[in-house]
Amino acid sequence: MLALALAVLALSCGLWAGGAPLWTLYAAIGLAAAIGLALYFTQRNFDQPLRRRMVLLLLGSSLFGAAALRDPVYALFQIEGFFFDLLGGVMLAAVIHYLIAKIIGPLLFGRIWCGWACWTALVLDQLPYKRSRGRLPGRWGLLRYAHFLASFALVAALWYGFAYRPGVAGTTALAWFLGGNALYLALGVGLALLLKDNRAFCKYACPITVPLKLGAGFALLKVKGDATKCCTRRVCENVCPMDIRIAGYIARGERVASSECILCQACISVCPEGALALSFGLDGPSPSLLRGCAAPPQPAPKDYIA
Ligand code: SF4
Ligand code: SF4
Repeated sequence: MLALALAVLALSCGLWAGGAPLWTLYAAIGLAAAIGLALYFTQRNFDQPLRRRMVLLLLGSSLFGAAALRDPVYALFQIEGFFFDLLGGVMLAAVIHYLIAKIIGPLLFGRIWCGWACWTALVLDQLPYKRSRGRLPGRWGLLRYAHFLASFALVAALWYGFAYRPGVAGTTALAWFLGGNALYLALGVGLALLLKDNRAFCKYACPITVPLKLGAGFALLKVKGDATKCCTRRVCENVCPMDIRIAGYIARGERVASSECILCQACISVCPEGALALSFGLDGPSPSLLRGCAAPPQPAPKDYIA
C-alpha cells in the first residue's frame, strides 16, 4: 500500500509538472527513484522480488508521467515516435530516449530497463502468474520482430502515404502514447492470463526488445555464477521470470549472457549458496539457454514469495 501511495504521489508530480519547467519532470523521476531505492535497501524483511516491484512501480509510474507530459503535442515515446523522428531526420526527445535507454544503455546495463523501469512491466508484474512455466515450444519469440516491423510499416505508411505527422491534423503525441500503451497492456494482460505467465508479452511480443536485445548480449553488467559454490539444485532457475537456465551458464563457465535476462536479481537473492552475483566484465553474446514449458519449475524454496 505504501508503494502504491508513493507511486500515485510520483505520478501526481508528473501530472502537475505538465505545465511546469522540464526540470520538475526530472525531479519527479529522481524523487520516485530515491524513494524506491531507499525502500529497496532498507525494507529487507520483504522478499527481494517484492522490493524490486516497489522500485518498478515508483520508477515506472514517474517515467510514464514524464513521458506523457514531456511535450504532450509532439514528443511521442512509443516506438512509433522513434520511427517518426528517424523519418523526419530529427534528433528529438524520442530518439534521445531510445538511444540512451534502449540502444546504448543495454551495452552497459543490459535489459535493466525491463526489470526496473518499464511502465508496461509495472502492470504486468502485479498479475498473479509470477512463476513461469517455461517457454512455449516453437519460434513464438519471432512475434516481437513482426510487431516491430508492423510498427515501422504503420509509421512509413502514414508518413509517405498520408503526409501524416504527430501533432498535426488534430492528433497529439499524448493520444498516440496513451492509445499505444493501452494496446500494449491489453495484449500483455491477455497473454499473461492466457499463458499463465506475467512476462509472456516480454518474451514473445514486445517490439522494444528488438533494440534492447541487440545490446544486451554485450552488456558489461551481467549475472555471474561461481561454479565452486553452485549446488546445481537450480533453485535460481525456478524463480527466474524469463526462464533462463542459469546453471547452464555456470556449467559453461560463462556469465549469464542471455539477452533475455532483465537483471531482476531474483536468482541472486534466492541462491542458498551465495553463488550468484552481479559483475562487470567484457564478453560477447552467447546462445540463450532457456527452460521450455515441458520442464515445469520445482516448488519455490520455503518462505520465498516471487
Ligand atoms: S520486454 Fe517490453 S514490455 Fe517487457 S519490460 Fe521490456 S520493454 Fe517493457
Ligand atoms: S537470470 Fe536472474 S537476473 Fe536474469 S532474469 Fe533470470 S532471475 Fe532475473
